[in-house]
Amino acid sequence: MASEPVARAVAEEVVRWGSMKPTGVSLRYMMEFGSSPTQRNLLLSAQFLHKELPIRIARRALELDSLPFGLSNKPAILKMHLLEEQQLVLLDKNESLNSAKNVRDWYLDSFRDIRYFPEVRNQSDELAFTQMIKMVKVRHNNVVPTMALGVQQLKNQLCRTRKVPSGFDEIHEFLDRFYLSRIGIRMLIGQHVALHDPEPEPGVIGLINTRLSPIQVAQAASEDARAICLRTYGSAPDINIYGDPTFTFPYVASHLYLMLFELVKNSLRAVQERYMNSDKDVPPVRIIVADGEEDVTIKVSDEGGGIPRSGLPKIFTHLYSTAKNPPDLDGPNEGATMAGYGFGLPISRLYARYFGGDLQIISMEGYGTDAYLHLSRLGDSEEPLP
Ligand code: ATP
Ligand code: MG
Repeated sequence: MASEPVARAVAEEVVRWGSMKPTGVSLRYMMEFGSSPTQRNLLLSAQFLHKELPIRIARRALELDSLPFGLSNKPAILKMHLLEEQQLVLLDKNESLNSAKNVRDWYLDSFRDIRYFPEVRNQSDELAFTQMIKMVKVRHNNVVPTMALGVQQLKNQLCRTRKVPSGFDEIHEFLDRFYLSRIGIRMLIGQHVALHDPEPEPGVIGLINTRLSPIQVAQAASEDARAICLRTYGSAPDINIYGDPTFTFPYVASHLYLMLFELVKNSLRAVQERYMNSDKDVPPVRIIVADGEEDVTIKVSDEGGGIPRSGLPKIFTHLYSTAKNPPDLDGPNEGATMAGYGFGLPISRLYARYFGGDLQIISMEGYGTDAYLHLSRLGDSEEPLP
């Protein structure tokens, strides 16, 4: 345990660094910079991260700290629950997360690890620094399910007490900033670490695939989503993919996979539940890839009955789900359920926006849903920095 004066000194550093301005990076910059991962460039990159990461992490730590008090003019009940959930006391109940520490502690630990790491001057410093930030990334692996669990419990409590969820907007905006920032931090660390790969695949620069085929990613995401659908319902609608199979563009494969996986799961679930007990032909889910000059747009289109207009404003909040059984994080299916917390759409939209894209959902109630995923092709847009 850190002694009190030490803890106070760290807290002061968090405030100091948290008030500094973060520096955004674009996809194109990461690509150009990473295309020659020389010793010198890796050193420069590590030196940049040594300054940049503590700023970003401190900003989140501060916000995790101040959120409940910022809501002090809200009904006491909400404030109380928020305090409770924000600290994520629930964690110690959860063996699978294997940590009794709360999310805020993870941020403080990581701030400390990076901020107090000695100056990065030569190759061996650089390698040690890289090892350390790799650990930091692992430490934060479970942040999303942990927060999701907290939010879910908050939601359940509010539903039980039938309180008007008047603080939901703030929670939602906080979570949007929080996850967006997390995507950026993980991208910067992941990119730096990946640039150390001695034998990168052709066309791959760190995490960026300069010749990514959206059709291929759509196929992979579809297969995986169908497998989960099969496991959940015993059958799964077909998926047809349309577009130029030779078309490629630079993007982060894991980001695109995640977004398409979430959209396809939603569509499969909607179609499956609508046609499960009918003898009508099950309409396939259709994925259309369009390669424009500015944007690559991918439409995931289903005839799963759509979303009522009254529900539409809620689908991008982190609390809205029509799934009956939120996944049990202790169970064997972690990360592989059809639907659960209502995080699929908001998180996917944040991934899209991170590189200057967007996600839109158009619904025709009684018929089906079209999800339009726009990805900026130019890669010039700078990271949004909450
Ligand atoms: P998860 O976090 O596991 O994705 P979820 O699927 O419930 O859980 P979202 O993907 O964010 O969360 O979707 C929120 C809600 O929007 C869903 O519960 C569902 O009611 C509705 N929805 C989303 N996509 C569709 C769709 N294609 N057709 C019908 N309803 C949809
Ligand atoms: Mg979903």
